Order: sequence, then C-alpha cells, then structure tokens
Amino acid sequence: MYMSSYFTVFKDESKLDINYIPMRLLHREYQFNLLNKFFQFSIESPGKMAQRVLMVGKVGTGKTALAKLFGLKIMQMAQEKGVNLRYVHVNCRERRGSLFMILQQAILNFYPNFPKRGYSSEELLQMLLQVLDEQNIFVILALDEIEALVQSEGADALYKLTRVHESRLKAPQRLSLIGILRELGCLEVLDESTKSTLQRNIIFLEEYSKNELRDILNVRAVLAFRSDVVLDESLDIIAELAERENGNARYAIELLWRAGKYADASNLQEVSPECVRRASSSVYPIVQKNAIFSLGLHEKLFLLGLARQFKHAKKAYLTMGEAEDAYRIVCEEYGEKPRGHTQLWKYVNNLSAADIVETQGSGSGLRGKTTLIGLPYVPAEELDRELSRRLGLNDG
Ligand code: ADP
Ligand code: MG
Repeated sequence: MYMSSYFTVFKDESKLDINYIPMRLLHREYQFNLLNKFFQFSIESPGKMAQRVLMVGKVGTGKTALAKLFGLKIMQMAQEKGVNLRYVHVNCRERRGSLFMILQQAILNFYPNFPKRGYSSEELLQMLLQVLDEQNIFVILALDEIEALVQSEGADALYKLTRVHESRLKAPQRLSLIGILRELGCLEVLDESTKSTLQRNIIFLEEYSKNELRDILNVRAVLAFRSDVVLDESLDIIAELAERENGNARYAIELLWRAGKYADASNLQEVSPECVRRASSSVYPIVQKNAIFSLGLHEKLFLLGLARQFKHAKKAYLTMGEAEDAYRIVCEEYGEKPRGHTQLWKYVNNLSAADIVETQGSGSGLRGKTTLIGLPYVPAEELDRELSRRLGLNDG
C-alpha cells in the first residue's frame, strides 16, 4: 500500500451516496410531523389499529429518505417506551413487484432461517402475522415504489395487504403500511374500497424549489467536501439545474458528486462552475442507473439490444418487433436462449415503469408489434458501455 499524493476535494464521499440517510431533512419538517401524528398510536396504544399512509411525490423529492428517517426515529421512540415496533422498508421494484418476494424479505427480518420455497404469497402473509404474534412485534411496512407491485400483481396484492386483519378482529393489529409512490394515478386499478382505505392519509412531497435545493446542497457539501473547495456559484448552478429537473434533490446530489470527480480528475483545488457544467453534460438522472443495476439478466440483454440499435440508428423510437430482433442478436452473442414475446412484454412494461424507456402506442400485449419504444433519458452509448461491462462478456 502506498498513500496517494493526489489532492482530493472530497472529505467524505459517502455522504453523497445514494443510500446515505441524512439525520435531518430540510424543508420536510411538516411531512415528518405528519408521519409522526399518523403513527402516534403505534407507540401509545400499539395493536389497537393498523394505519395506512401514502407518501406521494416525484422522483428526488425525498420520499425514501423521509420514510427511512422516520422509521429510525420511531423505532427509537418505541424502544424507549418498551414497545417492540419495527420499521421495515422494502423496495417493490427491486423485488420485481412480486408480493411473494416482498413478504419474503419482510419475514426474513424476523425469521432469518425462513425457508425460501414452497409457499404462496397468501400463506406467507399469514406466516408473517404469526411470526409477529409469536414475537409480539408490531410492524410498519413501507412499500417503496409501490407502482411496481400494482403493475405486476394488479389490485390483488394491496387488497390482501389492507385486509389482513379482517379475519382476526380480536387479535392485536400488527401490520401498518406506508405506500410510497410518484403519482396517485397508479392506484386507479384498485377497487373503490381498497383505494379509499389507502387514500385516507396522504402526505404530499412537493418539488423542491431552487432555494430549498440550495439549502440541501449546502449542508451536503459541508459534510462531503473539504472546507471551502466548493464554490457558492457552483451550488447555485446545481440548484438551478436540479430545479429544472422537477426539483429533483437526487439529481442535485449526483451532480455535486460528479462535479467533485471532475475537479479531482483535472487536479483542481476547487469545484468550480465549469466542473458543474462538465458534470451536467454527462449526467443522467441516477434513478435510471440504479434501476438498471437491479434488472434481471434477460431484461439487461433486452435493454442492451435497444441501446445498440439506438446507438446506430438515428431514430427516436423502435417498434417492438425491431426491439425483439435486436434482443435476439444479443442473446446469440451471449449464448442465452431468447425469452418469448409475452415475457419481453413484461420487460418493456417494467422498463417503462422504471423510466428507463418510454413507450408509445397501445399498452396492450396483443398489439405489441405496433408499440413504439423510446430511450429519451439515457445516452445509448453510455447504456451500451455500462450494460456490456455488467454483463461481463468484454472482460473475458
Ligand atoms: P425519492 O425517494 O423521492 O426519489 P430520495 O428520498 O431518494 O427521493 O431523495 C433523493 C436524494 O436527495 C437522497 O440522497 C436524499 O438523501 C436527498 N434528499 C432529499 N430530500 C432531502 C432533504 N430534505 N434534505 C436533505 N437531503 C435530501
Ligand atoms: Mg425513492
């Protein structure tokens, strides 16, 4: 080991990591207090009811961070009162929108040796309650990116989850829910009664304004960078750019990180506006990038096919047929047996839900051939490079 003699503008890069949870969320005090009010009962009289709360806001409005921070805080408060309350955060998209996988992840929190096979999601739900009964635990289950669950399971999963206590009226109600989503529209497919149960308590997270983003950036810059290396003007520009990206704080933080990387790469002692400009021309919202990492093998192969087509053809859209052809070529290259049309259709829906691709035309699988697929958010070149690297063929 030798110590690098290069100067770095960073003090602690991890403070800019996507998974870092700040201990205070600026400009979300109102929403934080609202959450506390909704769940006050779970400390004062746990088991008396089961709460359902929705958190709604666009990408980067702090939904995930707020929910997780709330989870930490309420578990602390519960512990002080001797209440066995657990906050469990599950990202539905990462669990492929499958109720089974979501419940499995939840159960594993309390029952690490839980057998992984042989149960239906219905049985799993009953078992979860049984485990909670046995260990006298109360749970706040946060279902993040719940769109994925609704998309893949329709109305059924939420119907079951919201009615789980109905067959056990006398027993303590152990499972409360926080649903996290971008727009209420995705709940339209639910039956009226499930919908109204869920929509009783809604917390909206508005887009951050430029000034709010500026405050958030300021705090984060102090945590992550050496003192005085980030110029105020740079933070101004980032706030401005992120405001235009629908007040997306995640985009702002990603941009700040990348600007720091440019500064380091160019051996600069400060993060100047030029670093930000260079960063912004290369950055695409990290949402999609994260989503791409968690795709399955064939979804990646499908996306790689798309990326390669878009790289060469100067087109805005490909037909489903063209996309399938491109996918089959990629499959051949990687020695994988191509999946069938129906499966590819699910991939397209998934990719579109995650905002990696955009679809136009009929949303129905039967008329798939006429549907158009676009790639407006991610440079095809970069996607190709990134996927090829992850899929590992080029590395030998
Ligand atoms: P969402 O889940 O709504 O897409 P996130 O919770 O992932 O947004 O927030 C995006 C990023 O911005 C995270 O890194 C988060 O820590 C940060 N962030 C969001 N809101 C705030 C805030 N009010 N104060 C500090 N950091 C914030
Ligand atoms: Mg989120």
